[in-house]
Amino acid sequence: MGNETKTPAKSNTLPSQAQVVIIGGGVIGCSIAYHLTKLGRKDVVLLEKAQLTAGTTWHAAGLVVTPSGDELSVELSTYTVDLIKSIEKETGQATGFKDIGYLQLACTTDWLEERRRMAVAARRLGINYQEISPAEVKEMWPLANTDDILAGFFTPEDGRVNPVDFTMALAKGARMGGAKIFEDTEVTGITQENGCVTGVVTPRREIKAEIVVNCAGLWGREIGKMAGVNVPLQAAEHYYLLTEPIEGVHADLPIIEDFGRYSYFREEVGGLLVGFFEPVAGPWATNGIPKNFAFGELKPDWDRMMPYVDIAMERVPILRDAGIHKFFCGPESFTPDGGPLMGEAPELKNFFVAAGLNSLGILQGGGVGKIMAQWIVDGYCPVDSLHIDIARCLPFQGNQQYLTDRTVETLGLQYQLIYPNFANETARELRKTALQDRFAKAGAYFTEGMGWEIPDWFAPKGKEAKIESYSWGRQNWFEYLSEEHKACREDVILMDLTSMSKIYVQGNDAEKVLNNICANDVAVPVGKVVYTQWLNERGGMEADLTVTRLAEDKYLIISAGDFYTHDMLWLK
Ligand SMILES: Cc1cc2nc3c(=O)[nH]c(=O)nc-3n(C[C@H](O)[C@H](O)[C@H](O)COP(=O)(O)OP(=O)(O)OC[C@H]3O[C@@H](n4cnc5c(N)ncnc54)[C@H](O)[C@@H]3O)c2cc1C
Repeated sequence: MGNETKTPAKSNTLPSQAQVVIIGGGVIGCSIAYHLTKLGRKDVVLLEKAQLTAGTTWHAAGLVVTPSGDELSVELSTYTVDLIKSIEKETGQATGFKDIGYLQLACTTDWLEERRRMAVAARRLGINYQEISPAEVKEMWPLANTDDILAGFFTPEDGRVNPVDFTMALAKGARMGGAKIFEDTEVTGITQENGCVTGVVTPRREIKAEIVVNCAGLWGREIGKMAGVNVPLQAAEHYYLLTEPIEGVHADLPIIEDFGRYSYFREEVGGLLVGFFEPVAGPWATNGIPKNFAFGELKPDWDRMMPYVDIAMERVPILRDAGIHKFFCGPESFTPDGGPLMGEAPELKNFFVAAGLNSLGILQGGGVGKIMAQWIVDGYCPVDSLHIDIARCLPFQGNQQYLTDRTVETLGLQYQLIYPNFANETARELRKTALQDRFAKAGAYFTEGMGWEIPDWFAPKGKEAKIESYSWGRQNWFEYLSEEHKACREDVILMDLTSMSKIYVQGNDAEKVLNNICANDVAVPVGKVVYTQWLNERGGMEADLTVTRLAEDKYLIISAGDFYTHDMLWLK
């Protein structure tokens, strides 16, 4: 091994201060440490309460597959796959990556349409995403039942990685770049002064830090509480089944994802690993994570999971005769909207969070580390932060009952078709407007936004306010909504803005302050509404809102409900 791949000798002396302290030695913490050193930050200390990977990372199935989710998700995973392919050369630490390919199955016309749309987007992002016939699927995977398949979608360059080895490669790269990693070092407190983080407390000593990053995975909410920061995530049981060796199963079989059967399949020591994204999940440790939980496994709930195992077996019928080696259950953290919680906490300056990876932490870990490092160094997010910024969360989402209820649904959403008018079904009826009963009487179909019950459309008299079936085409409510739309353009409508974010700006300088941050001129007569953006110095858009002049010295700012925290921060 050449000099450049040597890991610097480990020191066990905790420093009394560091520029950046990272809490948590899973894939995310190690990736951020690695990427910070790439940006020239050497004074980085990572603290892990047990051993590296001891949380969720050690037992991940290691799927690293690119064409899923929105554009940012694809970019995060594409970057991660590229990093996985190159980091061994840089660090000398193998990652166990195998480019066995990734095959998604479309078994309904709606899935087919969705995957074809995804294919267009994926190809635009440089992914080699090929539609193949059921016969070609059968050729690749002779053990699969292909009777109901309309098409397969294949990415030859994707594959699987050993999550522990990848994390160790990141840790090694971070150490080579100057970062220091301490295991068996639990963070027990966060120190702060005047709304700014100042360091962390450990049983060994206190460490002063300019920046603290919470990468504690499942424990992210607990660490958040130490700092007075809302980190709304909840652990849930997450499963895969491991079989004894099966004839015909070999190491080059591509990974299959079968959304309709809530399952994925890949080879593992001559047998199959069958993973699950069941639609009704089991939240775990709702009364707190057991002390000293490290490299932990959970007792599988066979009764709850057996129906899903049965459905998965229909795809690969030989599974019915295979010996079960293990039904593995480990915890993973999920967030209310299925997006990661990243960025600087609105409640505490210089306290960053990167947690709640919704079972995508390995696959997105490289990209998350890169973005977070850039965010920390530059002070702003280098990509569109709409779906990842922790500032989108509201205080009510930290409520335990809310998180427990919502987590039942979020795990399974990874494998569900998300139509444009999708609304969560769990944790509903939390925030109601004063008009809710009247809306219901008037035939409202309610959707949900940041906990509010919002009337989406109104069914005419005699019709039930119900979506008959989701689809990419026109749904049953189209005509009802078009009536509303017409009334809005040609007549008069009344709109309930209860669920929107509202901020009053009042005082002698109100006009001056707002004209300083609004792209449009808000020096308008009382009673006028100005539609405007708030722009940043990089030409990006921070907010899209209306400003209403209520009096000479008083304005009302209205924007989307989940922008409240972000807008307040920008205003301040
Ligand atoms: C069964 C299963 C299969 C999965 N398969 C895949 C897959 O195929 N692909 C994929 O992309 N993802 C997969 N995942 C998800 C993936 O494993 C996680 O998203 C990822 O490991 C999360 O990494 P993390 O660094 O955020 O958390 P963790 O790995 O949990 O790391 C957090 C660390 O923080 C430490 N910590 C906690 N509190 C403290 C404290 N007070 N002081 C110091 N340290 C502390 C913990 O000990 C832990 O090591 C799977 C998950 C499960 C459960």
